This record gives sequence, C-alpha cells and structure tokens, in this order.
Amino acid sequence: MNTKLLLLISLLLAAYSARAQRDFSQVEIKVVPVKGNIYMLQGAGGNIGLYAGETTAMLIDNQFAPLAEKIQAAAKSVKDVPIRVLINTHLHGDHTGGNQPFAEGGSLILAQENVRSRMSKEQVNEFFNRTTPPSPAIALPVITFGDDMHFNFFEEEIAVYHYAAAHTDGDAVIYFKSSNVIHTGDVFVTYGFPFVDAYNGGSINGFIHFLDKILGLINDETIVIPGHGDLSTKADVRRFRDRLTTIRDRVYAGYQAGKSVDDILKEKPTAEFDEEWGKGFIKGEDFVKLIYLSFDNPEK
Ligand SMILES: [Zn+2]
Repeated sequence: MNTKLLLLISLLLAAYSARAQRDFSQVEIKVVPVKGNIYMLQGAGGNIGLYAGETTAMLIDNQFAPLAEKIQAAAKSVKDVPIRVLINTHLHGDHTGGNQPFAEGGSLILAQENVRSRMSKEQVNEFFNRTTPPSPAIALPVITFGDDMHFNFFEEEIAVYHYAAAHTDGDAVIYFKSSNVIHTGDVFVTYGFPFVDAYNGGSINGFIHFLDKILGLINDETIVIPGHGDLSTKADVRRFRDRLTTIRDRVYAGYQAGKSVDDILKEKPTAEFDEEWGKGFIKGEDFVKLIYLSFDNPEK
C-alpha cells in the first residue's frame, strides 16, 4: 500500500474523530417538519428521522450520546410517546453514538447485519495504529437484516433497503412509502465530496450503484432527508450521482492504465467541482485517494 496515501487517510480519520469529540453543551436540536408524522431533527452529526406514531415513535439515527436527552426532548415536543424503534443507517459514531442511552430507554435497535458485526468486534487498523473497542452489548442492533426489511408502523408502510456496500458495507436507506419520504443515511449528503469509508467496506462502485437504485425507487415528488444537510429532491440526488460517476470514471481510467494515485491527481479529476464541493471535510484530492483505495474493495 502507498504510505503517503495511508498517512493522508489517517490524518483524515483523525480529523473526523476530533470533530466527534467536540463539546455538545451548546448544541440545540432543531425540529424540521417533513410531511405528515415525519420530522427531521438536526443538531450535531447526521440528520435524524422521526416518525411520531399514535402511541410510539420511530427514530432513524441518533447522533452522539451526550445529545440523547436533548434528542428525546425534541422528539417528545412533537409527540409525547416513547421511542420504541431505532434504525441505524450505518455504523459511524455521528449516527449511532446514542445507541446505548436509547437502548437503555427501551428502544429496539435495527440495522443491516454488517453494522452489528463491525460494532461488536474490536476494529484494529494496523496501518493507522488505531483500535476502536467493541461497542457494549446494549448498544448493538438487536434485529438485523441482509438486503431489505419491511414493516408497517401505524398508517405508514416502510421499506428499508441495503443495495450495496457504498459509504460503508452496512448502509441502509429508509423509505416511507405511504408518505413518499426517504432517509438516505450518508449515501447522499449535501456537504460536498462524500466520504467513501474504504476501511469499513465502502466502495465507490457500490456507492454509484446504490444511488442508481435510490433513483429507481423515488420520484420527483419524493422528499429526501440526506445523511447530512437540508431536505433535498430527486434532482439533487441525480446531480450527486452524476458527479460521482464523472469523477469515478476518470480515476478508474487511470487506475486501469496502471497509473499511481499521484499521477492521476496531476490530471485534476475533480477540478470543476472543487470550488463548490471543496468546502466540506473531504477535499477533492482526498476523495480521489479514497476512490482509488476503494477499487480494491469488492463491489456488490
Ligand atoms: Zn457516515
């Protein structure tokens, strides 16, 4: 493996976890009505989806443990019912950090099976010399699924799909069929270049395949709750998919021709997107390096 590449990704992940260790005392949870009984909660970390049913509620993701009480309070301000079901869109700490307090409060956690298996083991990364301890048993998903899961929650018909290893190998989207609202987790974000977490099984080819499947599922009226960012539309998802495809194709052409990642970077494969997308925590160069690395992960 390319040492410079590993160093960069190590720095990137360090920055990522540093962000996760910030002070949460000033964070306020904003409640955004989406449609009918569906709401989006924003604080720090990934967007939370809330379905406030007649007697119980369902939550999608939960940001960080120190925010659990505030998130509970925000959900109760919508409807004062217990949160019985909690779905994790993937394993990252800015989406699952509150699993333990919510489970202790009586929520049943659901996730794709790879989320549970990765969270239940110690993750040793010899390249980064970094070890993530296994999550406590109470924080692990209780019910897992492979490719999909369907359930009815009060008057809402809900489908959960895992189409491929994309952002990680445990990504799930939650589609509220009756209301035509989708929560995409981090397979669609609005902060710029997305994070392809090659070390948790993520893959650029799977990413694009996953987005194609989402585009086949939704329509122009669908309200899209991204993993991070404001409410979006199908057109936004399509534009995101198109950009990823353009960049992937350029990097892949170089990869197939046997070029090093440094040589590919000299061709500036993200040039026309850098101004708009380069403001996020993943820069164009990082994105190219992560794509290159992810070609070694099997796509699905
Ligand atoms: Zn993530």
